[in-house]
This record gives sequence, structure tokens and C-alpha cells, in this order.
Amino acid sequence: MIRQAVLEYDHSNDALDDLHTLIGNREALILRGLNGYDEAVRVSPRIAEIPSIRFNGECSDEEVERLKAHRPDVWIAVGGGKLIDTAKRIAFTQSVPLIIVPTLVSNCATFTPLSVIYGEDGTYLRYDTFPVVIERVIADRRLLRDSPYDYFRAGVIDTVAKWFEARYISGTTSRDAGIHSGLSLAAQCGALMDLSIREDDFRRYDTDIRFIVDHVLAIGGAVGGFGDAGTRVAVAHAVHNALSRFDSTHHWLHGDKVGFGLIVQERMISSEDTLFLEKWLQSIDAPTSLEQLGIRFDQIDELVDYVVEEMTIQGIHKVEDTDRLKEILRNLQELVYK
Ligand SMILES: [Zn+2]
Repeated sequence: MIRQAVLEYDHSNDALDDLHTLIGNREALILRGLNGYDEAVRVSPRIAEIPSIRFNGECSDEEVERLKAHRPDVWIAVGGGKLIDTAKRIAFTQSVPLIIVPTLVSNCATFTPLSVIYGEDGTYLRYDTFPVVIERVIADRRLLRDSPYDYFRAGVIDTVAKWFEARYISGTTSRDAGIHSGLSLAAQCGALMDLSIREDDFRRYDTDIRFIVDHVLAIGGAVGGFGDAGTRVAVAHAVHNALSRFDSTHHWLHGDKVGFGLIVQERMISSEDTLFLEKWLQSIDAPTSLEQLGIRFDQIDELVDYVVEEMTIQGIHKVEDTDRLKEILRNLQELVYK
């Protein structure tokens, strides 16, 4: 099924200034995060006039339940990925439209008709797909240019992953028009590896960065919207989910762990792009060894069990050879190149 959630996407220098006009005389309620909201108010002070409610930090069933007590005419999400996922879930549940103001360039949550649900303790549980109406995504240059660089870097990795994972699932071409469109967009995401994403480039926010930001926030999300299960997550995200069960990985961002998962995935299929991928990840200071992720040799068997379990949950075809997966992860434990 082809499914897109966003009616309008506005990435401009002062996109936030249109918010009040967009709301009109409707009763709006902002779901706000910790840091991003204050930044949004700094950029566009009138936002502070709109009633708001604080996000508790986790996109969990409990949080969605808590928010059900409020039912505005339009929800406004101001924050990062988990907050946006929560807002989509509540907006869909109540059949209320949603406006999204991303405060980080870290993921495609603004564009995907789904929410990743976590337990209260931050453990990944599942993802739910549903038809949600996102009236507008407001990508304000003033807000994004000053957002944390590490999130942007991790967001680019997660976007590049669209290419590797879609290709893993569906190859490079398809006679299904949705999957084929998804693959074309995914290839565009993969090509971001050729552009510089250094912090000084990000702060300058020139044409290339704007191009990259559009891919992280919008195009990356449209990949799954077109290709559905044919272009969604594969082994790399299963590895990410498995890694997330270890406390030692919690300080790494989503995209960092996905990047490591990509190395595992590409090594499993003996892809000729493996070395290029590893070099790229090293060049942008993303973790490329289990040691960096705080996982010891004696934890590898446990990690492999989790990866196999996650692949089954995601419906990715099973790892036939767990010994090979173990060997790959043992080779990736230390920083030494093997
Ligand atoms: Zn991801």
C-alpha cells in the first residue's frame, strides 16, 4: 500500500511565523519537549501564547493514554522523534489533525505514518502503522540551524540506512510501482554519503545542507510511505533494537546504532560496499566496533540471540547461519580492522 501522511511541508527561513495563520480560530494544544520548545519560542515568541502540555519523554502506550485526557481541534508537536511519534499516535486515535515542528534534524518521524512504541523504561516494543493526517511540517531554518549537531549526524546515518535496508529487502528495482518509487527515493538517500556533513557546514546551512535536511526529515520518510514493507527496516534496525537492550548503548543515538547495524547487515551479505560504508562511518565519528558501544566479547552470544529475535519480530527473513553472525560480531568487537 502507498501511504503518505503529510499534506504540506514547508522548509523555509521563517516557516514558524505562519503557525498562527495556519491554526486560525481552532483550539490548539502544543505537545512540548524539554529543550526544543524553548528554542522555538526564542525563534518565534508568539508560540508561547498557545496552550501547551509537557511530554514525559517516552513514546509509550501509557503516555498516549495520559494525553487522551486532552482533545484540542489541532495538536501541535514541537520536539524530537519520540515526541512526534507520540503526537501522531494521539492525533490518529482522536481523529484530530496534527502540525509538526521538528526541533532536531534526527529522523523521519515527521513524514512517516507510524509510531515506534517503547516501554516506560525505554525498551523498544513495536511499531504501529496508521493513517494520520499531518497538516503541515514546519521546518524553520532558524530553529534547525542551531539544533544539536550530533543529532543531525545520526539522522543522516539513519537516512542513508534507507538505501541499504531497502536494497536488502527488495533489491535495486521492482515491478511494483510503490516499491520502485521507494527504491528510487532510497537511492537518493544513499547518495547523501557523497556530501560533507561536518559541523561547520551544518552551521552555515548552505544549499547542500538544506538538501540533506530535506532528505532526513521528508524524503527518507516517504521511502517507506511508497514502498511499505518492501522498503522499510531490515537487519540494521534489528541490530539497533538488539543493541538498545544493553544499557551501555543508551548514550549513543538511534542513528549511531543503526550505522553499526548496517555494517553487520552488509557483512552478512558480503556486500562490496561494506568497506566504503565502514570508512564513511569512521570519518564522521560513528561507532564501528562493539567496544565503542560498550559490548564485551562475553555478551556477543546474548546479542546474537536478541538480533535473531528482533528479526523475527520485524518479519525479516531469518538468519540461517547464526554462527556466521556471531563471527561477524566477534570481528567487530575490537577497533582493529579485520
Ligand atoms: Zn531508524
